[in-house]
Order: sequence, then C-alpha cells, then structure tokens
Amino acid sequence: MTVRTRFAPSPTGFLHIGGARTALYNWLYARHHGGTFILRVEDTDADRSTTESMQIILDGLKWLGLEWDEGPGVGGEYGPYFQSERNDVYDRYLARLEASGHVYEDDGAIRFRVPDKLITVSDAICGEVSTNLKEQGSRRYDAETKQEVEANPDIVIKRPNGGYIFHFVNVVDDIEMAITHVIRGEDHLSNTPKHLALFEAFGATPPVFAHIPLNLNPSGTKMSKRDQGALIHEYQENGFLPAAVNNYMALLGWSAKDDQEIFSIEELKARFDLPGVNSSNSKFDYDKCRWVNSEHLKHLSAADLLTNAAPFLSRAGIDPTDARVPAALELARDRAQLLSEIPGVIATIFSDTVTYDDASIAKVREKAELPQVISALADGIAGTSDWTVDGIKSAINEAAGKIGLKMGALMLPCRVAVMGSTTGADLAPVLVLLGKEEVVKRLTGFGAML
Ligand code: GLU
Repeated sequence: MTVRTRFAPSPTGFLHIGGARTALYNWLYARHHGGTFILRVEDTDADRSTTESMQIILDGLKWLGLEWDEGPGVGGEYGPYFQSERNDVYDRYLARLEASGHVYEDDGAIRFRVPDKLITVSDAICGEVSTNLKEQGSRRYDAETKQEVEANPDIVIKRPNGGYIFHFVNVVDDIEMAITHVIRGEDHLSNTPKHLALFEAFGATPPVFAHIPLNLNPSGTKMSKRDQGALIHEYQENGFLPAAVNNYMALLGWSAKDDQEIFSIEELKARFDLPGVNSSNSKFDYDKCRWVNSEHLKHLSAADLLTNAAPFLSRAGIDPTDARVPAALELARDRAQLLSEIPGVIATIFSDTVTYDDASIAKVREKAELPQVISALADGIAGTSDWTVDGIKSAINEAAGKIGLKMGALMLPCRVAVMGSTTGADLAPVLVLLGKEEVVKRLTGFGAML
C-alpha cells in the first residue's frame, strides 16, 4: 500500500502554527514511508474563503519547504484539488446515498441518516473512542430558551442553498483521493464518528485516523492567532530558519524517545513516525523555539548562512556582497538566535561611525586610568605590522605591559572604544575586519572624548 496523506486547509485566515504542524506531520509521514503528500483546499464555504488566505497558506508551506506531490499548481490524477471545483463529484456521491436510501430531504436540506449503533474510532494516537451518533445528536442546546431540546441527529450534508457541508465533502474526497492516513488536529476527533458512518454508507474502507493533541499557549489555553509565535509568516519576518521552525513544530507533540532535540529535515524524515506522537497536549514555548533556531544557525553552511542572512543585512543597510560579510557572519552566528539579530552584532564593522552605549561607557570610565589605557592601545595597535588575530592580541598584550597592566584590563576599554558597547562579537576578529587605520581612528577619537 502506498501511503497517501493530505493537508486540507480551509483558506479562511492565516497559516497558524497548529495548521502548519498538521501539514508537517502529514508531510513527514508521507516522506518517511515513501508515500504521497497531497494539498487539498477545503474552500466550500464561499463566504469565508479568500484568495488572500489561500496565498498566505501556499506561501507559508513553500517557505517551510513542505512541497506537495499533488495539489494546487502541481496537479495530479485525483484533481481538481479545490473543493469548490468538485461539485460534480459530490453530486455523484450524493446520488449513491440517495439510491441506497441513506439520505432524505428536510426543509430543502439533505440529511444523512446516522446509524443507531456504537461507532468506534480506533485512533492511532488517541486510542479508542466510541459514540452512538443517534443518541449523542438527539439533543441540542437552545440558546433562546437556554435549555436542552430535542434535535435531529441526522447530519445535514447539503444546505437548502445547494452548498455541501464539510463532513460530506471531506469524506468523499478522502475516498476519491485514496487517502490512507488522516492526520489532523484533535479538534476533529469528535467529527470522526460521523465520517466513519459516511465511509460505511459508501462501502469504503476508512483511512487510518491519527488526531494530534492540541497545542496550548503558555497559559494553558488553546493557542490563538494573537499569541506570540502563532502565525507562520511572522517567523519568516522575524528571522527564523524554516528548518528550525519545522524542527520546533515536530517537537510540539512528537519526540524521538531519546534526548535528541535538534533535527535536520533529513533526520526528521528518517525518524518521524506516528508511535512517537504524544497523546497529551503540547505547550508552546517561544524561547525554546528561538533556542532551536540558534542551534540551526550554528550548523548552517557558510553559503546558506549568507543566503539566509542577506535580506536582513540589506534591510539594516549592510551590503551582503561586501567582502567582509562572510567572516563577519561567522562571528555573529554564535551570538544571534535569529537572523534578524545578526546585523546588530556586526553593524559596527560596516559603519563609519561608532554608536556608543552610555552604560558601557560608564562601566569603563570607572577606572581612573582609562585615558592612559586608550592611548597605550592606540600606540600599540598603530605600531603592529602583524594584522591578524594573534598579531593584534600580542600588540594589546605589549601595550598593557608598557603601562604596568594585564592584557585583560585593556580588552573591555578597547571593545567599548572601537565597537561602542561591552557586548558584541569577539573583539580581535572584529578589529581584523575593521582594518588597522579604522581601529586607530576609533581609539584616538574615543580618547579625545575623555
Ligand atoms: N478543512 C479542515 C480544517 O481546516 C480539515 C479537516 C481534516 O483535515 O480532515 O480543519
């Protein structure tokens, strides 16, 4: 059996981290088993579906690298992949239910007769859940009288206006598209008995169902679009790497059952499987997501680091083609958690002026000998001919010796004088990139300020 999974978003909003995680798990499951990953757009709700939302979802999936084998823009033998274009298929399936006596008309709507029996969902993650739809749906809450009232448990599958309802089209398409595994959010678990009843009415074997537990925000409620880290396009804007976001989303509900937390996409494809998915809810942690990103930044190839950082450098006024950029990026990759933080670490290398941080200046001013230190540094550095990390360090060491101090006492003043702050990338490599003339200019300029 060839595994066929699908991501079936309704284009009614942004690509949310919960949806993206569902897409990732379906994609990983298909890739792990050498199967096919399908993108199907559930846009039967014409009032709420928008092309903008569709574009955001497609862009988000593309940015994450979750390429689909069948679906919009790709085609495939089970298309069309937009439900709004599949009415003839739904009409055909409805005719089958009419012929077998499974449906009837009710005030212009079409209802599917639910069976009066226990339906058991054997979920690959959540275990067994049994329901009798006839009993479960026979009462409903009436908001006007604020009471439970009699209700018709039979499911409306077509509205009086002719529009088909989610449960029906979802099942028809899973049958038509030969879906073998339905991996989706736990919020759909309660729909699954209805779906199983429909599969049975069509005489079709249902797919394996796997409902992924919810992703909660730090306060323990269901994550909403207003929570930090909820929207995929914001990860891109904020300087996350797609591989890191995939890694973090994989951890939101799955573990490799060992201590490993940092995974490349290839490793995830090799190791992801349904038994590793937890049956309890996950809790979103933005700081952990940042940490995962910092780990991926550390391991990027130099070329990939440059490609990914380039837009952020340009935005900060640093020319990504500047010959010093690759070396500067190497200095920044250990200090930045996000691509967007890289320019801040290395901006001083590419700037004509130093932006001084008041607190940093105050800190080095505490030592009375600061003017003497700066002038010794300026002289020592001006006199060195070995413009390498080692050469610069020994020049600083010698300058320290000349004024009876240890090298360590000169490092922080030098950093503040040249880079403007006590924090930032490693000092000596930054000096190498700045060039001797610029370093001496900054030291003397700082000395004159004292
Ligand atoms: N369109 C449904 C949703 O966005 C998909 C449900 C499913 O995956 O079966 O929630």
